[in-house]
Amino acid sequence: MSSSQEVEEIKVRINVDELLRDYLKLQPAGTGTYKAACPFHNEKTPSLMVSPQRGSWHCFGCGAGGDIFEFLMKIENLSFPEALKILADRAGVILTRQNPQAHDRKNRLYDLCELTARYWHKVLLESPRAESARSYLAGRGVSEEVIEDFNVGYAIDDWSNLFDFLIKRGFKAEEIFAAGFVVKKDRGNGYYDRFRNRVMFPIVDHNGRTCGFTGRTLNPEEPAKYVNTPQTDIYNKSAIVFGLYRAKSEIRKLDTVVVVEGQMDAITCHQFGFKNTVASSGTALTREQIQLLKRFTNNIYFALDADSAGQKASERGSELIKSVENDSRLVEGTDRYGKRSQFIDPALSLNLNLKIISIPNGKDPDECIKNNPDDWRQAISEALPIMEYFWRMFSASQDLNDPQIKKNVAKLLSEKIAQLDDPIEKNYWIKEIANRLAVGEEALRELVSRVVGSLKAPVRPQEAAVTAQPQKTINDPDLLKFRTILAIIWRFPELLSKLSQELLPDYLNEGLAQKLYKSLILFYTTHNELFALGARGREETNIFSAFTDWLKTQAVSDGAEQFLEQSYLLAQKDFASLDAREAKNEIETILKLLKSNYLSSMISRLNNELRQAEKIGDKIALEKISISLSELIRQKSEL
Ligand SMILES: [Zn+2]
Repeated sequence: MSSSQEVEEIKVRINVDELLRDYLKLQPAGTGTYKAACPFHNEKTPSLMVSPQRGSWHCFGCGAGGDIFEFLMKIENLSFPEALKILADRAGVILTRQNPQAHDRKNRLYDLCELTARYWHKVLLESPRAESARSYLAGRGVSEEVIEDFNVGYAIDDWSNLFDFLIKRGFKAEEIFAAGFVVKKDRGNGYYDRFRNRVMFPIVDHNGRTCGFTGRTLNPEEPAKYVNTPQTDIYNKSAIVFGLYRAKSEIRKLDTVVVVEGQMDAITCHQFGFKNTVASSGTALTREQIQLLKRFTNNIYFALDADSAGQKASERGSELIKSVENDSRLVEGTDRYGKRSQFIDPALSLNLNLKIISIPNGKDPDECIKNNPDDWRQAISEALPIMEYFWRMFSASQDLNDPQIKKNVAKLLSEKIAQLDDPIEKNYWIKEIANRLAVGEEALRELVSRVVGSLKAPVRPQEAAVTAQPQKTINDPDLLKFRTILAIIWRFPELLSKLSQELLPDYLNEGLAQKLYKSLILFYTTHNELFALGARGREETNIFSAFTDWLKTQAVSDGAEQFLEQSYLLAQKDFASLDAREAKNEIETILKLLKSNYLSSMISRLNNELRQAEKIGDKIALEKISISLSELIRQKSEL
């Protein structure tokens, strides 16, 4: 297959709605189309339309649109070769060697990671030197199925085992270094393997590409229990959520994601059927990671290990209260409040439904589930809403009759309330906490607003980037009106007969609208049989498809195809439930506007000519122009 054949084949195999569903909540919008809230600009009412039949999408809010490639490139910020590789893998299309795009630098690194994952996995299953790793995993109760699913592997205790293997398979030393698998020797020019005697867990991004690894040591003397791939061109730690690729369909199905701390916890959760689980990998979730999760659900449950939250919360709470006693400043970074806040704070302002799971019977989910999976199930169902959790954490075993303690608890909670994005929720918690603490609601509100004032406005790079981009929205008012006319015509082709008599091409600006309209009229007069079929027995898309296919044989300017796609999607978005009478009225209104604009511009032109004729005293011209002018004025008054 040639490159362009490959691209076409991929488009045939991956439905546009199927891909977009990974990112957006699609709602049916009539005749097989869908609508969704656009991820590329801020909006509440969906204006992004998707047509599976046409393999296209378009946002009527910001003008973004295209096919599956354009969507993936835009939402993941990828180059075309990267998008091609991902979609080819997904479609099961093998890209040919001749395709240079398939072999750019980043794709080489992905290939390297993929090969390494397979190698380490094979070593774990088959090598006599992996005996200790196999017994470690068996000892932790990790099933063979999970080892297979997560592609778990083993890096043997050797300084150059992986390096030698990859060199033999044709990779260059610099590439192996760039992927993070080796470390440069202090002396000399050589490299040595970064991962030795470690059980290896591949880190897969949400598109299913292996981009890094976490290695757990089997040497009890080794100080670094876990070692990760360093930041590379393809592994950005703060943008990847461990386990998301395996969990995403279940997250969508249950409309909930459970975030645990460790990779082993996530793996155990999957093994016991809690498949909507991902791992934060022991660090705080970044805003980027939370936004990634938000694509799949608004319900995020955090399970924090006992040493960072859980049962010790009340004790920790007391420590915190003490620590603020001598500190009159309200906000001073999150460190003072310990790990807890770091895990949760980035999510507070993102309008999410956050809950906290307290882990019973054991210090982490892994232990809890292995004791009894039902305990874990129950813990999830009893998860506390985030503000309720903070209330318990800060107020537990405190003497709230002590005015100083009461004041400090109020301060701590006001900092949390201040970060909530939803004004209704904010208001609810101000009332609720004021009531529980028996303090005045206004006093607490004042405290919250002081915190809000001192918080810097959060930077949202994604949104900022969107507004900074030049907008592709159509500004030409005639073109917009013509797009609406077309949208209605696709639904009610029989209206074209009347339209062609009343809408003169001159009513439209010279340019795309006029050219397309002339083409449409030509198409109409040469394809009478299509229109003669009548509304019954005719597939709605027939006229549209027939026209766009026919247009390809004509010489029409660039942008025509895109413009027509938009008009088709607009028909589904705004006119899906339009009846024939409303359609006729709509067209008449637009027609009147176009005609009125046209007449106005003609009248002002003739007025100019009239003045010129008066100046030079050309009586014949004066007469002619006057007649035309009064005719135009009459026509305009009749509108
Ligand atoms: Zn948009």
